[in-house]
Amino acid sequence: MISLLTKSPWLMILLLVLAGPGPSAQTKPSTARAEPVAADERISAALRQVSAERIRANIEKLVSFGTRLTISAQDSNSVAAGRGIGAAREWIKSEFERYSKDCGGCLEVKIDGFTEPAADRIPEATEITNVYAVLKGTDAESAKRIVLVTGHYDSRNSDTLDVEGDAPGANDDGSGTAVSLECARVLSKLKFRATIIFLTVAGEEQGLNGSSHFAKMAKEQEWDVEAVLNNDIVGGDKSAEQDHSVVRVFSEGLPAAATEQEIRRIRGLGGENDSASRQLARYIAEVGRAYDVGVKPMLVFRLDRYLRGGDHYSFNQQGFTAVRFTEFREDFHHQHQNVRTENGIEYGDLPKFVDFDYVARVARLNAATLASLAFAPAPPANLHLLTKDLENDSTLTWEASPGDQGTEYEVLWRATTSPEWEHVQKVGSVLRATLKLSKDNVIFAVRAVDASGHRSLPAVPIPER
Ligand SMILES: [Zn+2]
Repeated sequence: MISLLTKSPWLMILLLVLAGPGPSAQTKPSTARAEPVAADERISAALRQVSAERIRANIEKLVSFGTRLTISAQDSNSVAAGRGIGAAREWIKSEFERYSKDCGGCLEVKIDGFTEPAADRIPEATEITNVYAVLKGTDAESAKRIVLVTGHYDSRNSDTLDVEGDAPGANDDGSGTAVSLECARVLSKLKFRATIIFLTVAGEEQGLNGSSHFAKMAKEQEWDVEAVLNNDIVGGDKSAEQDHSVVRVFSEGLPAAATEQEIRRIRGLGGENDSASRQLARYIAEVGRAYDVGVKPMLVFRLDRYLRGGDHYSFNQQGFTAVRFTEFREDFHHQHQNVRTENGIEYGDLPKFVDFDYVARVARLNAATLASLAFAPAPPANLHLLTKDLENDSTLTWEASPGDQGTEYEVLWRATTSPEWEHVQKVGSVLRATLKLSKDNVIFAVRAVDASGHRSLPAVPIPER
């Protein structure tokens, strides 16, 4: 039984009798499987525009700069000669500007440049430049919400300090850079209520410097970054054991930015599997079921692979929701290696090992996720699960998604042992719901839904005593 506005079953029955049967007059929780994110024809049409051929051209162009090592040349001569990270930076910028021209100047192309002081992998103070394009949301209130896709355009070979030798970086991370570019190209033809940022960063291989600077800037300027999709090594390396139908999605468990109090609550009541980043990963799985993108997200419930890190962590550290996409199986002969053949093994990160169709499928999954979130209302705010009394039903309260009229809400739940949401109950445009389900036995979340069926990220409640 679900009761709205009151915990008293007698008063509730009275209210239901008075109100008559309506959308909120359900008497027991639905056992239906959680509905997927609704497919939107505008998004499907945009996904059909994603081009493997264009992605191939963009990755080959990035490789043509010889090296994109963060500490490689970036003076005007090297830019003119088309070699080094400066030339790559200028080309990415011009590419975003070209897309913007095609949509009547809808993209704001920007630079986040700063001087990184000398460090382990940075012999002397170095100028690092992130390049990004902003597709501003359509109404002032919703435009404050930001969803973001990123890849790193810097590359490296066997030696992180080799500024001269080739470092093609076709897969790592020409592929992720190509995903940001292609998402910008196809999504800039649509208008969304929230803002989308298409980001390419440098400094990843020297110590996540670019993403770290960008995430700190977003935190300091109080940006409402709702989701970050980091694509790093999504080339689908053509090794024999590759599974071209799967892309891994890594998400942190205990949030890097959790306070002591939050860690204590997780220790006592669970929630180690319910970070905001993990809700984003589950959302991506739903998007993967709603749209036929040709690649299936495989959720990996850990921050990253062994011995490796990535730019999503810079965002996690600042308290933002962020996940990492990486191909199913990596070939370590083709990453961070000088191009050479040794004992019959080919080393180096060359375009010939990249499956451009696979990158296009991953780009479609990213574009579908960005678009679904940017069309959707904001998640409910200040969601609480009332725990003042010992009782066997569960009451949730929340605040309305800002600026959205006609937004309705859905309560989701699952067994504590289940990886994904299992059940959904529509509760209408209310700010409080009681379910005849024990909070001790399940995990709850609430999401906002607009009239067209666009669903927000689910929010997980904090207990209120
Ligand atoms: Zn990388």
